[in-house]
Amino acid sequence: MQDQNKIQWQRIDWTTTLFLTITPLVCFVLVPIYLWYWDLQWSMIVFTVVFAGLTNLSITAGYHRLFSHRTYEAHPWVRAFWLLVGASAFQGSALKWSADHRKHHNKVDSEDDPYSINKGFWYAHMGWLFIKDSTDPNPKAADLEKDWMVVLQHRYYVAFAILTGFAVPTLIGWALGAPVAGFLFAGALRIVLTQQSTFCVNSLTHTFGKRPYSEDVSARDSFWVAVITHGEGYHNYHHRFQTDYRNGIRWYHWDPTKWTIQLLALFGLAQRLRTISKHEILKARLQIEERRLLLKGLSKEKLAPMKERILAAGESLRQLRRDYESLKVSVNETSQARIEQIKLQMAEKKLDFEFAVKQWRIYLRAKTGTFSS
Ligand SMILES: [Zn+2]
Ligand SMILES: [Zn+2]
Repeated sequence: MQDQNKIQWQRIDWTTTLFLTITPLVCFVLVPIYLWYWDLQWSMIVFTVVFAGLTNLSITAGYHRLFSHRTYEAHPWVRAFWLLVGASAFQGSALKWSADHRKHHNKVDSEDDPYSINKGFWYAHMGWLFIKDSTDPNPKAADLEKDWMVVLQHRYYVAFAILTGFAVPTLIGWALGAPVAGFLFAGALRIVLTQQSTFCVNSLTHTFGKRPYSEDVSARDSFWVAVITHGEGYHNYHHRFQTDYRNGIRWYHWDPTKWTIQLLALFGLAQRLRTISKHEILKARLQIEERRLLLKGLSKEKLAPMKERILAAGESLRQLRRDYESLKVSVNETSQARIEQIKLQMAEKKLDFEFAVKQWRIYLRAKTGTFSS
């Protein structure tokens, strides 16, 4: 028993553990004291909120969707910005973060998942960070090791983190006439809050919500979790289709990370935004819903034609759209007549597709009581 305890203590990563416990404690004590004795000026509040938002985006749009999953390509200035501000989050280097995260996707829910939810909610949230051997001390990511900016940030990570995480906010605070507030609010408090937002991705998104795209993993989709994680709450979709730059695929899904990447693309600062086709997404969804219906005792023979009708109509619609797009560029008299014909066919096929989907949804709701959107 004694030996076991000794081994457990030896496994603790003291630097990370002390940082992750002392920083929130310091904020918990000093923030109320500061607010009691001094006024916090508006400029400091705005600076802290904007810096916190950018810190989170550096993790979600930078560390996660760019460096870990390569879901888009970014201009060198954008990559440098994500790496500099990302370091200020005190979540490790982009190389280490990405290597751990890729392992999480490859080994999700297994013993080798660095932050497996099966080891407990608290462990997945931040407990894994307290243990030295929960991750590889020498992270490997061949593609990232070829990127000199990523390598530089990894090599001098601690210096970058202290500089961007504490020194810069203190200096800006000093310029605003309140260096202590800069250190405390835009430095320490920002770090604590943005870290907690990221930690929620590993705990809450593997606990609360629905699983519309894959029931083979614990990851779930939840609007509420998306709100506190800058869009990472649509985690079931993300685990099913990790190469998509979006996590919330519908326009009304709360995904500020997706909107940021789209905005960067608009200004030519991001390109080759990767998405999964609607057809693939629909197929994944239908597969899960079919499985639920089969579990309710419905026969495969009954479901197969309904499912086929949706997929066939969807595929024909896609083909017609492709024809339409290619004809649109060469406008002459013959193509004009064909375009009109295709438009009509598209309208018909769309109706057919929508009818088949509606029929499926009514059926699903009647038999399982669940909605499909
Ligand atoms: Zn991911
Ligand atoms: Zn996950």
